[in-house]
Amino acid sequence: MLTKSIAKKKNELTINLDAIIDNWLFLKSQLIKNCICAPVVKADAYGLGAKEVSQALYSFGCSVFHVASLEEGIRLRKDLAKNVRIIVMHDHFFENEEYFLNYNLTPVLNTHKDTSAWDKFQKIKNQKINAIIQIDTGMNRLGLSIKEFQLLIENNEDLIKNNILYIMSHLSCAYQVNNTKNRLQLQRFTKLIKALEIKSLKLKATLANSSGIFLGPEWHFDMVRPGAALYGINPIPEKKNVLKQVITLRTRILQIRDVNVNETIGYGGNFKFNKKGKVAIVALGYAEGLLRSLSKSGKAHINDIEIKVAGKISMDLATFDVSNVPEKILQKCDWIDIISDKQEIDDIAGQANTISYELLTSLGSRVKKEYISENFEKKL
Ligand SMILES: *Cc1c(COP(=O)(O)O)cnc(C)c1O
Repeated sequence: MLTKSIAKKKNELTINLDAIIDNWLFLKSQLIKNCICAPVVKADAYGLGAKEVSQALYSFGCSVFHVASLEEGIRLRKDLAKNVRIIVMHDHFFENEEYFLNYNLTPVLNTHKDTSAWDKFQKIKNQKINAIIQIDTGMNRLGLSIKEFQLLIENNEDLIKNNILYIMSHLSCAYQVNNTKNRLQLQRFTKLIKALEIKSLKLKATLANSSGIFLGPEWHFDMVRPGAALYGINPIPEKKNVLKQVITLRTRILQIRDVNVNETIGYGGNFKFNKKGKVAIVALGYAEGLLRSLSKSGKAHINDIEIKVAGKISMDLATFDVSNVPEKILQKCDWIDIISDKQEIDDIAGQANTISYELLTSLGSRVKKEYISENFEKKL
């Protein structure tokens, strides 16, 4: 049997739970009074481990979390205390009613089918199921249109008044501070809330994701839903990142080989050395989340020396050009830093021509995650 100790460690992905907690506390400190900072831990907390991340945040007083699917909600329910609210943003309430009830999950109702099922189910069970209603204000993804919502209220005012926790909408361009779409969505959302208030229907509201928080206090309302910023992704790419870095990824060199002039490297044979050089091969490929699009312009470091990907990234291997690294250093140091203080998650996502969201969610399914959590442990 292959046990953990047989294989020498080839890759190391660390996740700093203390940094996630600090990022959460920082985001909280930016909010208007009484606004709840309720993390998004969908997609296994963007690949970093929903259980570990949520438990760490819970130990610091966080008690509302967002996931995407019913399955994610059910899984997370087992890891968290009963009194924690778990909001399921992107799934069917319709035909899943019993699961939401049994696992005490809060549904986001996105369609007319969902809201009718919700109404009916509560009557059948004679039980209150708190929910959130999503309203589309211009993203044109999920949610009722403003008109549909107003119609719904005309027929179900009491139900909505008593059992709806928040009305929710989602911003499409929040990471672009100057995009006029932000203000347009805010205006539509605010106008709706005001119209309801005139009818003495005062509902709580939630609009902002990570980037939305930084658009300013007007966008905060009663709850915000940050994901990316907690994990160290810069919410406003045109400004300096104010969040702490959360992950590091490094890989140990498997082999170093000399490559002659005009030899090609890797699949396809279209990467050539025009002088004699040296490559290092590592056990990290696109199956580990080292995206294949990094083949062209991916970078890494040995000590402080920048090195480049050479040739195409394979499924579980990659090759780096280490011709510029002195022999003395190569002999001493066999770790290559992929994500580190020299190159942050947003830098490497840029090299891969994608966003950190995609990079993070691709990492960590095959590489074992190691957690750093001094503060969190002290709390337990
Ligand atoms: C994913 C998601 C979020 C979190 O967005 P970040 O940009 O990661 O902060 C918030 N709200 C909704 C509806 C989402 O789908």
